[in-house]
Amino acid sequence: MPKPVKNICYRCGKERIVSKVWKEKVGNSIVETTEKVCPDKECQSMINKEMKKLKTTRQDREQKKIEANNNRKKEALKNRSKKRRPN
Ligand SMILES: [Zn+2]
Repeated sequence: MPKPVKNICYRCGKERIVSKVWKEKVGNSIVETTEKVCPDKECQSMINKEMKKLKTTRQDREQKKIEANNNRKKEALKNRSKKRRPN
């Protein structure tokens, strides 16, 4: 069992409070998940904004990675068909 770690807000250093507790089915077991937020509403809304931005940036990056991968595959296919000339 992991020992409970105090969840401190990284912006203001206040101890975060539990805002939501729900049970989630993960595989065959039910896991209790808690969502903790900063008690400072303004601070939390800033965090939410940052999280959203981060998520979008990450999704953008993932999308670009996929596209680059697809392009590479296409190029590889093109090169292969060039090299393989029928006799
Ligand atoms: Zn905070």
